[in-house]
Amino acid sequence: MDLGISGKRALVCASSKGLGRGCAEQLAAAGVNLVLNARGAEALEETAQAIRDEYGVEVVAVAADITSEAGRAKVLAAAGDLDILVTNAGGPPPGMWSDWTREDFIAALDANMLTPIALMTEIMPKMIDKGWGRVVNITSQSVKAPIPQLGLSNAARTGLTGYVAGTARQVAPFGVIVNNMLPGIHATDRAIQLDTGVSQKEGISMDEAKARRAAAIPARRYGTRQEFGATCAFLCSEHAGFIVGQNILCDGGGTNATI
Ligand code: NAP
Repeated sequence: MDLGISGKRALVCASSKGLGRGCAEQLAAAGVNLVLNARGAEALEETAQAIRDEYGVEVVAVAADITSEAGRAKVLAAAGDLDILVTNAGGPPPGMWSDWTREDFIAALDANMLTPIALMTEIMPKMIDKGWGRVVNITSQSVKAPIPQLGLSNAARTGLTGYVAGTARQVAPFGVIVNNMLPGIHATDRAIQLDTGVSQKEGISMDEAKARRAAAIPARRYGTRQEFGATCAFLCSEHAGFIVGQNILCDGGGTNATI
């Protein structure tokens, strides 16, 4: 399917690895020029070059912490005129409800709620002027069904979801389409981090930890960055203009809910 976005320009945050990289690759496959971002310059440049080589699109790589004001300013200064924004950042650490201080909550809200909001606030006015834009925020399945040990994530991402629900309807009249993608378990570094936590807590091998988590998913496997990215590229396409303010679960059926 021709996604109708060849020649457009996208900022994909936190995209040297994992789900962000998957989104960048699938947008590049649709002919979209990219601005990529991550903190680590080496992995970022490797990913940028791999995408240039494979898809022949323009790729600008900006090493910066997207959750800091200075980092965002650096990325936006290099980004140029954007048609597509994919927000993403690392997730907050797990723990118990009684562990977290005000500072922990502020850090989680900054990274996973206020950063995407700041990026949308900066970028959407120009999309509105052009009469076309697409925004996809990478959140989590924890927005639909809480993951108890990820209380910081549950709180911050649900706050972002509430913001998007209203804002998506305010910008849709101007051709700017905002949606969220809710990943379940995917085979990325983040999944290895969570498997390690299970393996250490339960005293089992990494393979056993992974097998146990996969067994809890109706699809009986982890998702891939390619299939996550392909869904993101569709939501950024010409064809997605009537999908407004939705929360699209990509979780292999892991969230046990009728709608
Ligand atoms: P990942 O494989 O660990 O990749 C994270 C990417 O983000 C890397 O490129 C990393 O590069 C970059 N990054 C992290 N913090 C950043 C920051 N502050 N500024 C700029 N770049 C940053 O993670 P993932 O699995 O793709 O997860 C992406 C998001 O989806 C996370 O918020 C995660 O919590 C959420 N999620 C993931 C899953 C899953 O199963 N994978 C499930 C639900 C939700 P640097 O470290 O070099 O910055």
